[in-house]
Amino acid sequence: MIEMQDVYKTYPNGTHALRGVSVQIDRNEFVYVVGPSGAGKSTFMKLIYREEVPTKGQISVNGFNIGRLKQRKIPYVRRNIGVIFQDFRLLPKLTAYENVAFALEVIEAPKKVIKKRVMEVLDLVGLKNKANRDPSQLSGGEQQRVAIARAIVNNPSVIIADEPTGNLDPETSWGIMQLLDEINFRGTTIVMATHNKEIVNSMRKRVIAIEHGQIVRDEQRGEYGYEF
Ligand code: ADP
Ligand code: ADP
Repeated sequence: MIEMQDVYKTYPNGTHALRGVSVQIDRNEFVYVVGPSGAGKSTFMKLIYREEVPTKGQISVNGFNIGRLKQRKIPYVRRNIGVIFQDFRLLPKLTAYENVAFALEVIEAPKKVIKKRVMEVLDLVGLKNKANRDPSQLSGGEQQRVAIARAIVNNPSVIIADEPTGNLDPETSWGIMQLLDEINFRGTTIVMATHNKEIVNSMRKRVIAIEHGQIVRDEQRGEYGYEF
């Protein structure tokens, strides 16, 4: 479902962020992406959700060659990919409900459909009774749950999570991890960059390690493998 063939990414300032990455990620996999800061993990993820385009090489997601996608087709591909960040990125002036509904309003779903679906996903992330709170009235873990609800509300085939537990304490991080595991179990592919050694080592899922822009390790039931 996600395939990279000899992908290079050089930023305009000359930084070689990825240097010859080839990988295949199948439907319904759960993949941890690990490696030192500056190794190229975020770039790897950004190429998948088409925030950046490769300098060289091919990337396909769900059969679309996304490096060469026509501008007008980008929204269709993005809709099929939910993205979660370390800093949540909720709209501060909207409630939890509105933050999630927004993703459906932009595709002009009927109001009734929106309400049903938004409450369904808020229930799934355990926040049905806090739908009317602003982000500032929610804890960090709760804000990340809203972000996850927003990411899954369109039923994407893939979730890209860039250090989703990076701002959370260990206990809250485990809650987020269990939620992502549940979402994966229900049929969504998950690619998650992380520095959380404890989580990676106890979940024993596929681990891809990136160093200096190259994949240096790719193991099923892998381990974190670093001391940081
Ligand atoms: P990681 O997520 O592993 O920390 P990144 O993919 O963010 O790594 O960065 C890889 C390299 O590319 C780093 O040297 C970083 O400084 C550089 N880089 C990332 N984004 C940009 C950008 N927009 N312009 C220039 N250099 C960048
Ligand atoms: P954590 O330490 O797990 O991030 P917090 O101590 O921030 O959690 O919050 C604990 C509970 O208090 C949460 O259920 C959260 O919704 C609630 N809460 C936190 N801040 C506010 C606030 N400003 N207004 C209303 N409820 C809040």
